[in-house]
Amino acid sequence: MNIHTRAVHAGDRKKSGAAIPVTTPIYTASSYIYEKIEQLDRVFGREEAGDSYARYENPTNRGLEELLVALENGHTALACASGMAAVQFALQAALMDRRRRIVAANALYGATIRMLQSVFEPLGVETAFVDICDLAAVEKAIAAGKPGCVLMETISNPLLRVGQIDRIAAMAKAAGAALVVDNTFATPMMVRPLELGANLVVHSLTKYLAGHGDVLGGAIITDEAHGETVRALSRTAGPVLGSFESYLTMRGIKTFPLRFERQCTNACRIAQWLAAQPRVERVFFPADPGHPDSAVIHRLFPEKMFGAMVSFEIRGAGREEIFTLMDRLKIVVRATSLGDVHSMMLYPAMSSHRDLAPRQRERMGIRDNLLRLSVGIEAPEDILSDLEQALD
Ligand SMILES: *Cc1c(COP(=O)(O)O)cnc(C)c1O
Repeated sequence: MNIHTRAVHAGDRKKSGAAIPVTTPIYTASSYIYEKIEQLDRVFGREEAGDSYARYENPTNRGLEELLVALENGHTALACASGMAAVQFALQAALMDRRRRIVAANALYGATIRMLQSVFEPLGVETAFVDICDLAAVEKAIAAGKPGCVLMETISNPLLRVGQIDRIAAMAKAAGAALVVDNTFATPMMVRPLELGANLVVHSLTKYLAGHGDVLGGAIITDEAHGETVRALSRTAGPVLGSFESYLTMRGIKTFPLRFERQCTNACRIAQWLAAQPRVERVFFPADPGHPDSAVIHRLFPEKMFGAMVSFEIRGAGREEIFTLMDRLKIVVRATSLGDVHSMMLYPAMSSHRDLAPRQRERMGIRDNLLRLSVGIEAPEDILSDLEQALD
């Protein structure tokens, strides 16, 4: 079934009493009872499917989780309270029965790098960082590090590099490691990492999937082998999403394919326009034929979809010039997020990569004149004229 169809049908219309609600209601109950206590006993014992306590299962979350499984073509999903909670629990599940070592892409969401260094490392889980787009380097890092888990993003932030998920999945598998892929930037419309051999996919639902700037949430979608591990971890540790957020996310996802198509088309046009501006030194966008991962992009991405993130450098600009430019924006929102219906501009050195040492940022290629634009669904002419007056 096409993803547009799955987005509006999967997970919904579960029978509740005699009637079937057209959309999934918000279930707020923290616990559930049955006519006979014996049945609750069987539910607690997991001999019978059913609800008992909201940390274990919640019907609203179940609807969303079914929808996420359908979108990513996975086996099991867990809706989490944030994208970072999803990253943490996916890594924990991946390392459960494996060596406590991680090989991770060196270009990752800022908080993910911080989590590896300040949450996992103190627990004795060491991470070796590698250029995930250099397959030979990845192979070497896996051989040297003997990791239990490899972690990467489908499209890296903010320089939009694209690694070969299928090849890396094969390498990880051969070494007995699980592959965890953060698919937030690409979304299941562009890439479904589980189909390419990844074991666990994570999302910040806060971004494209919920899409309206009103939800904080995350999700893990797994292959068959890791489903029960993730759910068991969650039953004990409880990183679960609240049912109101779950409802909003399901509502958002119904239009996600439409929104994302529009965002991708807008982004192509804006990237092209930016590349022609004299004040713009360099544009980072996957459609660029000169993109270092161009061959991989054409192999793994669907035709004419390159994502909706555009990064660019302003010639000779430092923090001051960047702030002036950002203050001039009237339509594009200067906010620390992405994937919403409205366009958003972020200054990585100030926000997403703020806590990294300047030298580490420099090594990652994130210069002080770099801006990241998350393209929204507005009319492209309006976004362009806003950028034009701000760049003036
Ligand atoms: C935003 C984001 C996260 C973290 O998600 P939260 O919902 O903010 O916790 C993780 N990975 C990527 C790629 C993101 O963009």
